[in-house]
Amino acid sequence: MKVYKFGGASVRSAEGIRNIVSIVSRVNEPLFMVVSAMGKTTNAMEEVLEHFMKANREAAFEKLAEVETYHAGIVQELFGDSPEGQQAMKPLFDEIKAAITNGVGDDYDRWYDRLVSYGELFSTKVVSAYLQKTGVDNRWLDMRGLIVTDSNFREANVKMEESQKQLMKVADFSDAKVYIGQGFIGANIKGDPTTLGREGSDYTAAVVGNLLDAESVSIWKDVPGILNADPRIFKDTVHIPELTYLDAVELAYSGAQIIHPKTIKPLENKNIPLYVRPFGSPDEAGSVIKAEVQNPVDVPVYILRKNQVLVTIRPRDFSFVLEESLSKAFTVMSKHRLKISLIQSSAISISVCVDNNRYLAGALDELGNDFKVNYNEKLELLTIRSVNDKMADETTAGRTILLSQRTRRSARFLMKEE
Ligand code: ASP
Ligand code: MG
Repeated sequence: MKVYKFGGASVRSAEGIRNIVSIVSRVNEPLFMVVSAMGKTTNAMEEVLEHFMKANREAAFEKLAEVETYHAGIVQELFGDSPEGQQAMKPLFDEIKAAITNGVGDDYDRWYDRLVSYGELFSTKVVSAYLQKTGVDNRWLDMRGLIVTDSNFREANVKMEESQKQLMKVADFSDAKVYIGQGFIGANIKGDPTTLGREGSDYTAAVVGNLLDAESVSIWKDVPGILNADPRIFKDTVHIPELTYLDAVELAYSGAQIIHPKTIKPLENKNIPLYVRPFGSPDEAGSVIKAEVQNPVDVPVYILRKNQVLVTIRPRDFSFVLEESLSKAFTVMSKHRLKISLIQSSAISISVCVDNNRYLAGALDELGNDFKVNYNEKLELLTIRSVNDKMADETTAGRTILLSQRTRRSARFLMKEE
């Protein structure tokens, strides 16, 4: 069997969903589809949540109405006057409206997962109904019952064994050749919905691929495959046809938007190739990530990670026992879910570069108990792999660099945003 993952951009319009049908129709073997929320729905649902948490139900309903109108528009284009599309979505909108009406926004992270997870439920219901209408027999699966996670709401960790048990029970392809499930969402053992972190649908696809021993996982994206740089930021980009799991992890960790960093492990563990394929041109090869490649990457790769903060801490008691301070500092940072993108240390200070997220303030506060803390915001981290001096100089000319790191093959520059 194969796993196909379709991201938000693929399902953002009726045209995209028609294209999915045409891609899926070509597959002659069991297929598990993992689908994201339509377009920017996850962002919109985050706004619904914000209003709800502030007990502003009216604003929450207003935003939800926008989401509903957007989905209804796509359904109208796909189904015209026949009711299947609307019928598929309506119970979900009823459910979420009831939750907003009756719920009390106490725990932000828990409510996030309860409400924001609907984005994927809406989209998969529509895609499933449309596949059915066009003759692609399929079965819709509620991944909240199949991807079993811990209760780390908003960034839940998948429990592989439990998930496998659940998945094996329902997805043996005896009742249908095509399954469609939501990316990004799962539930804890008690059945409370959880999410796997923004852009987590890739990870879902990898987990499903691992658990069902897929022959391959394909991520369909609105790019020609993996490029050596983000074409929205850098010019003259080059296509990379194949790269190793190790390269892919490095790229994802450095902030390449192409795949979610957690995606590689489940695939590497079972030696399952990951294809990144152009949604608009399904006949093109795209790129493949696997254990061994014939042509190692031989072009420089540029990765820009935005919205970074440089945090420098120094033990208040001027202690030189770096190991102890290190472990204390990292415990605090991991507790507050800071994503560390770079580390540098000296005799008495540690500097880390982290993503700016809503947990940062809490982390800085707690670090302040034991450390003197300084930080700079509005930074971006540029990583250049296979770098030479000329390239590094050219790319950073005129920029304010706060910190740089250099190894034999790569260079990293932490710079003020432009
Ligand atoms: N819909 C979720 C997001 O936008 C998950 C995903 O698309 O991968 O983050
Ligand atoms: Mg997405």
